[in-house]
This record gives sequence, C-alpha cells and structure tokens, in this order.
Amino acid sequence: MADGARATSSSSSQPEVTDESQDWILGAGSGWVEARTSCDHLNSLSPDLSHLPTPDTPCSRCKNPVENWLCLCCKEVLCSRFVNRHMLMHHQETGHCLALSYSDLSVWCFCCEAYLDAQIILQLRPVHQAGYFLKFGEAPPLPQL
Ligand SMILES: [Zn+2]
Ligand SMILES: [Zn+2]
Ligand SMILES: [Zn+2]
Repeated sequence: MADGARATSSSSSQPEVTDESQDWILGAGSGWVEARTSCDHLNSLSPDLSHLPTPDTPCSRCKNPVENWLCLCCKEVLCSRFVNRHMLMHHQETGHCLALSYSDLSVWCFCCEAYLDAQIILQLRPVHQAGYFLKFGEAPPLPQL
C-alpha cells in the first residue's frame, strides 16, 4: 500500500547521461547492417550441406574464379552481383534465396534481402562451419555468449 514513493521527484540527480547511448542505438551513420537472427526460408536449405564445393570452384556459368556464392538450396556455385550477377539470376530463375559467400562466409537471403547470422541460426551453423573449414583449414572460433 505504501509503495508509491519510489522516484517521484527527481530534483537534480541525473544531468547528462542519455545522449551518447541514443546515438549508439540509432547507429548514426555507421553503415553497419545487423545480420538477422531468423529467416522464414530455411526450409529450402539443401538436405546435405556437409559436402560443399571448394571455395575456389568457378562460377558454373561464366567461370569467374573467385569470390563466388554457393547456393545453399542446390549447391551450385555462382558469381556475385559485382561480377556477372549469376547468383542473383539463379535466385530469380529458381526462387532459391539462401546463399553463402565464399569471400567472407556471410549468408545472404535474397527473399529477406538481408544477411543472416550463421552463428546464431542453428540450421546455418553446420554449413558456415563447413565453408570456414574449406576456406581456412580449421574450425571457426565459437562465439562467446
Ligand atoms: Zn529469408
Ligand atoms: Zn558467373
Ligand atoms: Zn540453387
């Protein structure tokens, strides 16, 4: 009954606290896009993602040798939008929307139009680890939670 006297009158206690943290929350101008931790399209993942093409596999259409994408639905290797956009065309032709970058091992969902956090999303963790192992010859460091 007598618990209404918590912080009713804040006279002069908190002068300048919240400005910086608000800037940080809004991500003011940093350009950093946070990866999503969920995606509705994970059921289109290939059932066998333990055997992957190697990161130096050329684009299956134009033979571009490096920085390609691996389609996580059919495991075809295709080049990026900065080369001949064959991964993007593959998505448009087939509806396959999940792709692993062999340049930085990020996972992109064309349907969400967002990067996915392959360390957080359990279904993506095995393929991220397999890709990492192929690229660097060792297992990826586990995230510290
Ligand atoms: Zn998605
Ligand atoms: Zn290509
Ligand atoms: Zn595909």
